[in-house]
Amino acid sequence: MQKLGKNVNGYRGETIDIRAVLEDCVAAACACAWAIEEMQAAQGLSLLAFTRTASRANHRAARIYISTGIHGDEPGGPLAARLLLQENQWPASLDLWLCPCLNPTGFALNRRENAEGIDLNRQYLQPRAAETVAHIGWLQRQPSFDLCLCLHEDWESHGFYLYELNPDNQPSVAQAIVEGVAKVCPIDRSEIIEDRAAQNGIIRPSVDPRSRPEWPEAFFLLTHKTRLSYTLEAPSDFPLRTRVAALVAGARSAIEAIGSG
Ligand SMILES: [Zn+2]
Repeated sequence: MQKLGKNVNGYRGETIDIRAVLEDCVAAACACAWAIEEMQAAQGLSLLAFTRTASRANHRAARIYISTGIHGDEPGGPLAARLLLQENQWPASLDLWLCPCLNPTGFALNRRENAEGIDLNRQYLQPRAAETVAHIGWLQRQPSFDLCLCLHEDWESHGFYLYELNPDNQPSVAQAIVEGVAKVCPIDRSEIIEDRAAQNGIIRPSVDPRSRPEWPEAFFLLTHKTRLSYTLEAPSDFPLRTRVAALVAGARSAIEAIGSG
């Protein structure tokens, strides 16, 4: 599979009608008994969150959080969230949290930032964007998670890759994710990706969030909500269907690996 060669100086591929995609997500979530919440960010601007619990009084299910759509020029993420909801194939004993679009105004403009020009994925230490304030407020009302997955796309990459944040050296699901994705999408096997050392599509940055001033969502999650976080990056110079398949396969592989671990 070859890159399309469309992405010159940025994402130049297909765009999505985010409102329609989110309506589909709500319909699928309703049909499968998810709880649906709207986080009010500003006048006329809310973010959706879906929750599905399997825990019972005598049994604590694994808790998995999935978010996407924080960058408005990465349509593969919300489409992957929609497909995950529509296919509704989850291991029975999981508690699930799913935020299908953290930057609705960015998608309307097909740009990374929100309508005010703020990169929401740099807001999580000192948030001023209404979306991030609302999202953090909602996250603080949720329990901790055993696994967090943030679904992204990278317009420059030569294939799929991921970032793993696993400071306690828990059993890694990185290899399982890459193997799952490799069935549907090329893997970027470069030794350097985004200026970081990579191995078979896996970047394990040794960063202390406290040393960084502009936190991505994953740093907030790692600091406050989880000890195991993956950021999945689909290559957005490949066909949209391939990228959606990559993110869905990656999420499924991670979930299955946690469920069977
Ligand atoms: Zn992104």
